[in-house]
Amino acid sequence: MEVLYLIKIGELTLKKGNRAAFEKQLKFNIKRKLSGTDTRITIRKGRFFLEGNTDDKKRIEHTLATTPGIIGFTVAYRVSKDMNAIRRTALSIGKELTETGKGNTFKIESRRADKSFPLTSYEISAAVGEFLLDSIPDITVDVHNPRWIVSIEIRDYAYIYGAENKGVGGLPVGSAGKGMLLLSGGIDSPVAGYLMAKRGLRLDTVYFHAYPYTSDEALEKVKTLAEKLSLFTGGLNLFVVPFTDFQLLLNKKAREEEITLLMRAGMVIIADILAKKRNAGCLITGESLSQVASQTMESISYTGSNTSLPVFRPLIGMDKEWIIRTGKSIDTYETSILPFEDCCTIFSPKHPLVKPDRNKLNESFIRLDAQSVLEEAALKSERFFFRQS
Ligand code: ATP
Ligand code: MG
Repeated sequence: MEVLYLIKIGELTLKKGNRAAFEKQLKFNIKRKLSGTDTRITIRKGRFFLEGNTDDKKRIEHTLATTPGIIGFTVAYRVSKDMNAIRRTALSIGKELTETGKGNTFKIESRRADKSFPLTSYEISAAVGEFLLDSIPDITVDVHNPRWIVSIEIRDYAYIYGAENKGVGGLPVGSAGKGMLLLSGGIDSPVAGYLMAKRGLRLDTVYFHAYPYTSDEALEKVKTLAEKLSLFTGGLNLFVVPFTDFQLLLNKKAREEEITLLMRAGMVIIADILAKKRNAGCLITGESLSQVASQTMESISYTGSNTSLPVFRPLIGMDKEWIIRTGKSIDTYETSILPFEDCCTIFSPKHPLVKPDRNKLNESFIRLDAQSVLEEAALKSERFFFRQS
């Protein structure tokens, strides 16, 4: 008997012509996360298997549960196509499920891909079901609403498996290209990055740091968030941009109520420079419509006009509650709420513009004469790499 993992790939199965490229990317991503282990991924008839030495269950299962492109996975046992071996294996799975409190009603689901196997799928299920009923006390069959299911697939071998674990779903990171995420220390932007990674984007991230107005702790917090995000992306870069000179320029030259939006424009211009240097095809922010003054339709429209790249804002229609729940599920929320101030909160005006006039802001921005300051900040950015597996 061999222990392996069967991996379900969800949305990938909808791909037609370019499915092979998506599969190759997913295979590469899993392999990279499991480097150093003696495992391999094989794709047979559209099914993903993880085979080899599967003793390090904790690492393998953690990897499969956090790799975009996988909707579910399960430990499967591979035995010869022999009813005795199949019965014995199904029994040990059934025993484990009842002993771990999964409940007392069950069902056997069989699939006979190898039509030369002498029993039909119905006959396989009936024979194995009967064997389990005889061997495990107090269980009954419930074909409509079972508490647990043992699945049997007759292929090149017989594959038998029980409970399925959930993956994060989506598409393999890298299959959609690369995006530049504006990562603050807040709640929203890590969630935005996670969502876009799940749509297949590899991420580079950029943080604007106004030292000493924002503390070392604020920077450490962003590094922790980048590291947590890298669990899903298989590694990512963080560019830390020295933002103080631009902030001081704003404080000296800009009208107070315009500071927040002009600062946002500066961020977008620097992010645009870095994205183009890094071959990223879009910017990503954690903006959500009307959450704050700088995120009204008019404000977003102004800040977005400072780049020729598309700006992806996956949280635009999400409620804060949903964002917080998602932040908790990816373990970024607790870090996000640590109380270190962001550069925007420190310099932010008491009464920021809510419905800015775009032409007026464009003129104000030109008056700042900030291009060289922004370009220099981009040039002086420091790169950090994070990988968590
Ligand atoms: P977040 O929780 O992501 O910080 P927020 O609700 O606090 O968002 P803002 O502070 O207005 O909203 O920021 C809007 C977006 O601008 C953020 O989601 C992020 O993408 C980007 N951003 C803001 N501040 C920074 C920063 N210091 N460095 C990098 N990106 C930033
Ligand atoms: Mg913020």
